[in-house]
Amino acid sequence: MRALVLLAALVAAAAGTETFVGHQVLRIVPASDEELQKVQELQDLEELQLDFWLAPRGPGYPVDVRVPFPSLQPLKAHLEANGVSYSIMIEDVQALVDDERTEMLRGRRRLPLSTNTFDYATYHNLDEIYAFMDLLVAENPNLVSKLEIGRSTENRPIYVLKFSKGGPNRPAVWIDTGIHSREWVTQASGVWFAKKIVLDHENDEGLASILDKMDIFLEIVTNPDGFVFTQTQNRMWRKTRSRHSGSNCIGVDPNRNWDAGFGGPGASKNPCSETYHGPYANSEPEVKAIVDFVKNHGNIKAFVSIHSYSQLLLYPYGYTSTPVPDQKELHQVSQKAVAALSSLYGTKYKYGSIITTIYQASGGTIDWTYNQGIKYSFTFELRDTGRYGFLLPAKQIVPTAQETWLALKVIMLHTRDHLY
Ligand SMILES: [Zn+2]
Repeated sequence: MRALVLLAALVAAAAGTETFVGHQVLRIVPASDEELQKVQELQDLEELQLDFWLAPRGPGYPVDVRVPFPSLQPLKAHLEANGVSYSIMIEDVQALVDDERTEMLRGRRRLPLSTNTFDYATYHNLDEIYAFMDLLVAENPNLVSKLEIGRSTENRPIYVLKFSKGGPNRPAVWIDTGIHSREWVTQASGVWFAKKIVLDHENDEGLASILDKMDIFLEIVTNPDGFVFTQTQNRMWRKTRSRHSGSNCIGVDPNRNWDAGFGGPGASKNPCSETYHGPYANSEPEVKAIVDFVKNHGNIKAFVSIHSYSQLLLYPYGYTSTPVPDQKELHQVSQKAVAALSSLYGTKYKYGSIITTIYQASGGTIDWTYNQGIKYSFTFELRDTGRYGFLLPAKQIVPTAQETWLALKVIMLHTRDHLY
């Protein structure tokens, strides 16, 4: 085991991979508006190279931040001087990254010849996930097909799996995972969902009845360039990999790039920021591909965009505090979905609109889809609540996917019964 870890470290170093040796993730809990202000100011101190895993929300809410080793002492001293309390959530980020890499190498056998032998309990790279999709389509040609809806900035194909029992342009459910590339449990859950649909499409009464009326579209790797980058260069990459004029910084936050309150509060105009909204709405081909698909399809009734972490189920809006007209219904659906999710392993979720539950965020996916007339627009933040954050151990993939599926089914069944 030790030799394998050493080997992984050597491979990483040879590939020029970003390492996180000595980095810690601190949980800072500002107790007052003054302390919140102090924490918010940290976001502008680029020399500290802080990576906010959970951005500041308000007094009493945790802020998780990855702190590079050289910034640790100055930051801790600064917090202590201002009386802001913090705790260490992750002692050494690289240790968790190494564990994850070891687990991936252990799990990597010859590519399976069937989706029955595919290892759903490990993290996979893009080639493996794309090979999985082809296997699933080949095994189930009457149910599953693969659509290429566009190309990424680096010219990778962007694939969507379509699950359909036939019939032209049926009402449809959309599910996407991995729009933020470092949220690995989401892509891994997407793979599991795909197999689950195939396994259950006849035996599970609920799913069978959903597919009798509706198609399901599933985009597993929504940000393929970012995903490859997290696997080869920098595990903590969140954004796309586009380069826009006038900056050395790369990438746009694809969850701030949609044409809903674009460029407003809760998005950054600084290209180096993790929440950079991009030069204009839909500037990112990964976003534009979905926009075009949704518009061309014209009959999508539910849209679910899946992130991690925080254990939340959210509905619009994020860009304005004006409640959506369907607030009451979306809240009730969320309550039912969360109850179903929690029934399996007791995982606790909060739910509500984006702006009231987390913070104001403009240019987000589901604000746009809702404004397009897709009433049942939701976002999940999957496990956990910060113990591992984006570095959720692989053994939690299947339980996370299983419980999330129960919530997805509530949303899909509600949609089936309330087609509009
Ligand atoms: Zn995200």
